[in-house]
Amino acid sequence: NFDFSARVDRVEPSATLAISNLASELEAQGEDVVDLSVGAPDFPTPENIVQAAKDAMDAGHTGYTSSNGIPELKEAIAEKLRGNGVDADADEVIVTPGGKQALFETFQTLIDDGDEVVLLDPAWVSYEAMVKLSGGSLKRVDLAPHDFRLEPALDELADTVSDETKLLVVNSPSNPTGGVFSDAALEGVRDLAVEHDIAVISDEIYERITYDGFEHTSLGSLDGMEDRTITINGFSKAFSMTGWRLGYLHAPEDLISQAGKLHSHSVSCAVNFVQHAGVEALSDRTDDTVEEMREAFEGRRDMLVDLLAEHDVDVAVPKGAFYMMLPVDDDDQAWCEGAIQDAKVATVPGSAFNAPGYARISYAASEERLREAVERLAEHDYI
Ligand code: PLP
Repeated sequence: NFDFSARVDRVEPSATLAISNLASELEAQGEDVVDLSVGAPDFPTPENIVQAAKDAMDAGHTGYTSSNGIPELKEAIAEKLRGNGVDADADEVIVTPGGKQALFETFQTLIDDGDEVVLLDPAWVSYEAMVKLSGGSLKRVDLAPHDFRLEPALDELADTVSDETKLLVVNSPSNPTGGVFSDAALEGVRDLAVEHDIAVISDEIYERITYDGFEHTSLGSLDGMEDRTITINGFSKAFSMTGWRLGYLHAPEDLISQAGKLHSHSVSCAVNFVQHAGVEALSDRTDDTVEEMREAFEGRRDMLVDLLAEHDVDVAVPKGAFYMMLPVDDDDQAWCEGAIQDAKVATVPGSAFNAPGYARISYAASEERLREAVERLAEHDYI
């Protein structure tokens, strides 16, 4: 009988677990489940990246690296960020095993017990858990009544933040909504952050997956944001590298030296040959493959929106990432459990993202499977 820390007691296991357990159970019984619950691209990692990892292993890049990352990758990341208009230097980067670790280190570095953190709902599940683990207190602004757009919610955000607010988290393109914040919305965030001296995490992990010709704007590129933005990014989504575990954070150097302590005492460094593969991923040799994946996601989005419309289901049309929020019953947990049991379609309850009344669909699945999912949901009266 262990006496567990208050820290771990404060958080729940991921709410998506119940659904994936159910899906696995059904599959073990021989059922064909259309799994639209996963947040991972369904494409193989581009071949040139795989080859770069093999080459790096053959070349003996298998030991520890310097804690914050190999110089070639930190430089490639800084150059990439400069392309986004962020004034970045290689010394302002920590390479992490996944964007998740970069976020975790950031919260741990900035947040003490009781410090106020503001989230924009629906928010990715792990933000809340990470804030709780760091001892922070949460305030939230709900974007659901505004079709998941930030611009119409800026007044509410202004009413929520104050000089007491330490940190605000912005995630565009968004998991779970697929929403992409307009430049005007980002400027609104900037104005409030400057007025109240708030640090802002900009989680840009879905930046390469945007639609309708939309160009991603990095929050850290806005005047007034350079000294208060922590830019989070990673390789999982853009390059279909979820299992490789590679991400990074960029921030002013004082934050990097503090977060670097956590980094060196916890993970030591990201995997050596994976970092070499990361250099290849960021090269222009991967651009065509990334574009092919982006186009495939956009095609699926269009198809799903049309199919749902045929069943009189209106969704907020996603402008990025590969998720959409399906309006369902108030009891979204029951809806999702029913949908998987009856229709054998797995989705994630909106409650997991503080958005009851919705189910998150991930369209990282083939058009054929997506069609099958909609047909089954309709057949069993879930839509
Ligand atoms: N941020 C968001 C919004 C995500 O959806 C995810 C993954 O699901 C991550 C960060 C972390 O991804 P990774 O740790 O694989 O880089």
